[in-house]
Amino acid sequence: MSRPRTVGVAGTHHYLAHIGIDHDTSTLRTLVSAPGALTELNSVLADLDTSGTAVILHDGTPISVGSRDVLAEIDSTVAGHFTTAVLVPNEQHGTVILDEATVDSSAAASSGCAAIVAVGGGTIVDLGKVLSQRHHVPLVVIQTCASVNGFSDPLSVLVRNGAKSTVPTAWPVALIIDHDVIAQAPAALTRAGFGDAAAIWCAPADWYLACTLGMDGEFESGVLDVIGAAAQGLRDATSLSELDLEALLDTLTYGGLGIGVTGTTAVVSGCEHLISHLIDMAAVARGAEHDLHGAQVGVASVISAALWESAIESFDDVSIDVDVATTPIPDLENSVTRAWESIDPSGKIGAGCARNVAQKMARWSGVRAELSEFVATWPEHRRVLSALLRPASEIAADLAAIGAPTKFSQLTPPVDRETVRWIMRTLPLMRDRFTLCDALLVSGRWTDEFIDRVLDRAAESGGGL
Ligand SMILES: [Zn+2]
Repeated sequence: MSRPRTVGVAGTHHYLAHIGIDHDTSTLRTLVSAPGALTELNSVLADLDTSGTAVILHDGTPISVGSRDVLAEIDSTVAGHFTTAVLVPNEQHGTVILDEATVDSSAAASSGCAAIVAVGGGTIVDLGKVLSQRHHVPLVVIQTCASVNGFSDPLSVLVRNGAKSTVPTAWPVALIIDHDVIAQAPAALTRAGFGDAAAIWCAPADWYLACTLGMDGEFESGVLDVIGAAAQGLRDATSLSELDLEALLDTLTYGGLGIGVTGTTAVVSGCEHLISHLIDMAAVARGAEHDLHGAQVGVASVISAALWESAIESFDDVSIDVDVATTPIPDLENSVTRAWESIDPSGKIGAGCARNVAQKMARWSGVRAELSEFVATWPEHRRVLSALLRPASEIAADLAAIGAPTKFSQLTPPVDRETVRWIMRTLPLMRDRFTLCDALLVSGRWTDEFIDRVLDRAAESGGGL
């Protein structure tokens, strides 16, 4: 393997070095993001051990740039180095869902291969990472849309026992982002990518809060500075056609790299991602469809920003009572179980969530000293948090300008008022990750009245129901 190549647009972006990724932290060696980047595939493959078969993984959708057949070009380039085999998962069944059956059948179909070349969006690439991990072979990723940040991290979102979970899998050895190819992707995917990128304007505040209160590891502002600088180019877009595609790709790429280098998705995943997960789970429980991940995260980012604005005001008015906040909440396990009954009457999901929440609260019971310190130095934290956040109204305005949904009712299918209320109430009752909702819950502020205030504020900002 040659040393890392970090060619960026016009050679100006040095992705891996810029965000602090080296040989020890990652097996990612090549990251090319530029118009025409696909021409790098040949030299990427030349660096691999080319004895054996390379499996080209895609979802069967033709990809064309003008009159060019991109899949045929990739096939012919790979065939210059390897024997090739094409794997289209769920070929007979349409949409690819990464449940156990799909993963196992894809692993069986690719067993004995020498390399995986994954060509596609988030789902195909997540499957490529799983296969690379299972077979211990290198993965080359050719990203075909700007829909999520997960292309540049070593994690996959898989469906286990019917529920989505993010699991550690493998880094690609090379990530090729050809802007000519991405520009041809459906507009809905680019809009969704903007929504996923919008999490940079609210999620870091949750991460800061958790780290500062001793509920997460080290807060790494340097990583956020890199992602945030890329996201500057996304502000004040006037239309989808005027959107700076390079800024969007860089925000998503650095977001994924930031997750990879810190080892936690918390960098760009806070309350807004919890909201999106809850939309998924509410839909799955009904046997209904839900919208694209990024479309949901965009709507939820407006809510999360409004939530932070309301919370900061509430902390300004009445400071947190450390005694109240560290006293165990009576009957919490029952609240968790009840919250999940409507989704899963069998009680299985509720029991799993109750375990997560119990773990979180056990950690919380030990942070009394950090909380006292936090309350005593609130003005300083307020300043840091305000710098990490963007007003809900600005996030909503930018989403609206590119034609992305800003409200639950604009999602496909729409999420109704009753479900939104259930989602908001259930936010702190799902995972063991600590966010602002937990701080509000333990300090007695996570009430229906407060949730209404947040929804009203989001509505005034151009989002909400
Ligand atoms: Zn996301």
